[in-house]
Amino acid sequence: MSQNLDFSHERDLTIEDLVRRVEAYYPDANFTMLRKAYQFAHNAHNGQKRSSGEDYIIHPVNVAATLIRLRMDLDTIMAGLLHDVVEDCNISPQEIEKEFNQGVADLVVGLTKISKIKFKSKEESQIENFRKMVVAMAKDLRVIIVKLADRMHNMRTLQYVSDEKQKKIAQETLDIYVPLASRLGINSVKSELEDLCLRFLKPEIYYRLAEKVSMKKSERDNYIREVITNIKEKLLEYSLHAEVKGRPKHFYSIYKKMTARGVDFEQVQDLLAFRIIVSNITECYKALGIIHSSFIPIPGRFKDYIAIPKVNNYQSLHTAVIGPRAERIEIQIRTNEMDEVAEAGVAAHWKYKEGLAGKSAPKLDWVQELLEYNKNTDNNREFLDVIKNDLDLDGVFVFTPKGDVRELKYGATPLDFAYEIHTEVGHHCVGAKINGKIVPLRHILKSGDSIEILTSKTQSPSKDWLNIAKSSKARSKIKQWLLKVERDENRELGRDILEKAFKVFGTSLKALRKNNELKEFFDEFHIIDEDELCVQVGSGKLSAKLVMEHIPSLKDLAAKQDLPEINEKISEIESYSNQMTKNVRKKTHSDNAVVVDEMSDVMVRMAKCCNPIPGDGIVGFITRGRGITVHKSDCNRVDSETLVRTIKVTWNKGFSFTHPVSVRVMTQDKPGILSLISKTINNSGINIRSAMAKSMPDRKGSFIFEIEVKDYSELLKTISSIESLEEVISVTRV
Ligand code: MN
Repeated sequence: MSQNLDFSHERDLTIEDLVRRVEAYYPDANFTMLRKAYQFAHNAHNGQKRSSGEDYIIHPVNVAATLIRLRMDLDTIMAGLLHDVVEDCNISPQEIEKEFNQGVADLVVGLTKISKIKFKSKEESQIENFRKMVVAMAKDLRVIIVKLADRMHNMRTLQYVSDEKQKKIAQETLDIYVPLASRLGINSVKSELEDLCLRFLKPEIYYRLAEKVSMKKSERDNYIREVITNIKEKLLEYSLHAEVKGRPKHFYSIYKKMTARGVDFEQVQDLLAFRIIVSNITECYKALGIIHSSFIPIPGRFKDYIAIPKVNNYQSLHTAVIGPRAERIEIQIRTNEMDEVAEAGVAAHWKYKEGLAGKSAPKLDWVQELLEYNKNTDNNREFLDVIKNDLDLDGVFVFTPKGDVRELKYGATPLDFAYEIHTEVGHHCVGAKINGKIVPLRHILKSGDSIEILTSKTQSPSKDWLNIAKSSKARSKIKQWLLKVERDENRELGRDILEKAFKVFGTSLKALRKNNELKEFFDEFHIIDEDELCVQVGSGKLSAKLVMEHIPSLKDLAAKQDLPEINEKISEIESYSNQMTKNVRKKTHSDNAVVVDEMSDVMVRMAKCCNPIPGDGIVGFITRGRGITVHKSDCNRVDSETLVRTIKVTWNKGFSFTHPVSVRVMTQDKPGILSLISKTINNSGINIRSAMAKSMPDRKGSFIFEIEVKDYSELLKTISSIESLEEVISVTRV
């Protein structure tokens, strides 16, 4: 079980303490070597003091202690003890290699190089620092881990240096080491460093938080115990054994929440975090279900980092619920293994396991990718953007086909990405290729995905898209488009209705405009121009009849003639306009599986007679008042006579949803055959909507299954898997 790591400065730590701690997880380590490294560092630093007045050796010993907590291998721990000897004591790398080994010497050399990086507050120079860090990291990640341990101890003892130096070092830590620790997933180090940075950068806030949080310490501890017991009991009711831990949240995360939401300390509600550790993934979800049914979950707070791990491999379920005392509490659910990765991150790779003396260093893809950037870009700003994106974990980071990195919101889809590139790309997006594979618009992007957007001239946004897009940018562009389309449609419809109505009286919009006859109506109804008039009529807010009643010449004509014929025509126009308006409304909910050539936004329906599914050859029939009906090209309704009414239609590849289709299965009549076929269909992930069975006289069985498939190829696959059953005679689509 991994404990919450505590890195506090231990002023009396001896080499014997270190030996004992290493022994606890690595009993057959070479302790002679470890003692030798200590002795070597001790001699080299002899006489040197820290700002605290303590002997210098206490610093490398504490650094080594942190590395031991992270359960690093022996070379790394020795490098921790020796990390300052080249820099501060004029010891040569060759001497270290001679006394110890090349691995230790390389680590110390790497650390010495990093320590020479002069950090400046200017952004441009920071980029150079990052570049060098990345290069050092790519050679051996352990260098950065030792550096983090070094920085951790310096931060722990920062009170002994001048105010000015405190601020400078804390800022540098927050800018560079915290993101690195975070990116490497070493969360225990990251949170500790963040709290220390807050303490030195914003002492007034830090101490206020510390005071508030600790004010009711005993009461809080009681409450934590109560919640733990409560959660354990609930889990036990479902015979789930779990380890449950609770603690107040880190100050920095409270502070971040306060600033992000612009609220005061009192308003930050969930100050306590609980962790449930179970033995496998199934139990994680089971525990989540139990928690959500035992406490009231807070909407929008559930995150599944097990299904979609963070880019630093962090996995866990997160949720927040109303606790037993009506207080918000945060709950993380994960397995033991996930917990270790969460605490130690990449350091967990070196973790000593019985019988395994040392593991080779993991190669991290993103480090390689950053290195490529380092090589390929001369533009510092661009590189910094890449680094920053890469180090920030709140989003998803995906690559364009050219290799640019884009940051998107967690849970983003290809649509978000498309709108991120350009509004027009978004509007015409039909799907995407992710790492070369075609995915639908709904696909959830993962960090590291390389994504190429597929567009089609005939594609346009639909209301569905508002459920798919996650980013505010994409959503507002879609909304704008939908509003404009609705307005355009209404305008055209209104114009059509008015023209038809005016025609009855032998006039037209153009003629009325010319004679300035619309003015009276415009004034009375506060209409700005003709376009707006058409929009209002098309949307049904104003009727054509009302307009006509306010046109001087028509008014007279209608009064004079009062022909029943004219009235009849007007009411016909009215009903036609109502019908059209209704159709326009319906259309926005219509099936978008098919793209109709040269026409946007027409109503499309699948013909009942042949029920086409994606992959079938198809043709559209233009129907009166009901848009377009899509038939299979070989449907027997399609003949020379109907052919004149057809229009070219194609499947919309960007849409993925299931279509019902029926298949007839002829079998030998054997008991259990129905369930056998059902199982076969279900096993290929296909849903069965209904099944009908018939016994035939000649000891044959006939079944009709209505199944749901994405497309023709999925149907073929399903048919062939049914055909492969020994008892099956034939399978046909009906
Ligand atoms: Mn140091």
